[in-house]
Amino acid sequence: MLRRASLVAALPFLMLWGVTPHAQSPHAARDGEHGAWIDRYREPAARLIGEAVGSPFAWQRLAVLTDTVGNRLSGSPALDRAIQWAVGEMKRDGLENVHTERVMVPRWVRGAESAEILTPVSQTLTMLGLGDSVSTPVEGVRADLLVVHSFEELDTKASLARGRIVLFNVPFTTYGETVRFRSNGPSRAARHGAVAALVRAVGPPGLRTAHTGALQYSSDAPKIPAAALATEDTDRLQRMVDRGEHVTLRLRMEAHFEPDAESANVVGEIRGRERPEEIVVVSGHLDSWDVGAGATDDGGGCIVTWEALRLMRKLNLRPRRTVRVVLWTNEENGGRGGQAYRDQHRAELGRHVLMLESDGGVFRPFGFGFTGSDSARDTVRTIATLLSGIGADQITVGGGGADIGPSVQEAHIPAMSLDVDGSKYFLIHHTPADTIDKIDPVEMAKCAAAVAVMAYVVADLPERL
Ligand SMILES: [Zn+2]
Repeated sequence: MLRRASLVAALPFLMLWGVTPHAQSPHAARDGEHGAWIDRYREPAARLIGEAVGSPFAWQRLAVLTDTVGNRLSGSPALDRAIQWAVGEMKRDGLENVHTERVMVPRWVRGAESAEILTPVSQTLTMLGLGDSVSTPVEGVRADLLVVHSFEELDTKASLARGRIVLFNVPFTTYGETVRFRSNGPSRAARHGAVAALVRAVGPPGLRTAHTGALQYSSDAPKIPAAALATEDTDRLQRMVDRGEHVTLRLRMEAHFEPDAESANVVGEIRGRERPEEIVVVSGHLDSWDVGAGATDDGGGCIVTWEALRLMRKLNLRPRRTVRVVLWTNEENGGRGGQAYRDQHRAELGRHVLMLESDGGVFRPFGFGFTGSDSARDTVRTIATLLSGIGADQITVGGGGADIGPSVQEAHIPAMSLDVDGSKYFLIHHTPADTIDKIDPVEMAKCAAAVAVMAYVVADLPERL
């Protein structure tokens, strides 16, 4: 692994390194060369990597987005500003066919909100309403607390839930394991007559930050207001209950939906020199939650995938096929951007060679997750050897993303996600702490380099993946 200080010094090495295992591929056989097809990509890959890691351009562009626009919830004026900004900047980069594609998105507005302990002591709690939650009455919901630690425990204590505020206190293990309490907990509690739901923040203990995120109301349960509490506040309530104290809480939320708003996916391209109708998509989502600055989720993913095209343009690298960057709208609370793309591009989905999404942060890159045929995986593995110098050469099983998902599923398109060191991701995910200072410029540059090389080579291969 190259360290930050040694990175620039190592560039001549990156330019020269040529000893990587040659893999066989169908293309190699057709080329009449045995495994040498990758060799012709060493020089452009080294240039792309050198250009990416040679400057903090990507980080600085993300800083402009997050400092001047900030967070960007669907339907907000801030997201509109980000969309207009991205269009202008893509044009300035010299990208081709830069345009927006209209998408109607839900507009959820948080409004003022608070949670407090009323008895045995009056204290405020660190909270964030869950996305898509309904409001409380103006005077708030005031009720006794019931703490549970699983859905099973909730079901066994069903009779106790009636008229109470139910708190799901489930410590973070993995996102998949614990996010279900945020998504489904409110309706599970409402089915038993709870008047509001609280959930322990879905993330490791941080510095008293609550994590928002969307809930999903079931159609067979009343809609009750719901919020996340910081882990510290959850632990405190647990201790109070454990001591047998009678805990009463009040939750106040103004959350509500306004009419759907017009939004857009932003698209830019490097048109292919031989087969422009065949497309490699790289992407991130431009919308974010309405707290923090949407730096890691997912401003960084937008910028590093967009960088792939900027770098190609800057270096005059025009691959055989078209490389298209898409900055999605409405990933966080609706997925309408990804659905709209599938619908608007249905006629050309069959000509999509690969779709890549970066939505796991832009920390130190390891490589890519990939879903596709075995032969495509072999090819992608060989391409990834070009990234060993920046430590991004692993190809793991399973790639995709929420926004590319609808198109990928409909047309069985090979799918890829950028794999990075995720150890910090869920600490700041959907919190006020999702700001650019958590992102290292060199790690981010390596993410851009990895995406650029992968996208360029896949788009340029003699035969499609
Ligand atoms: Zn995201």
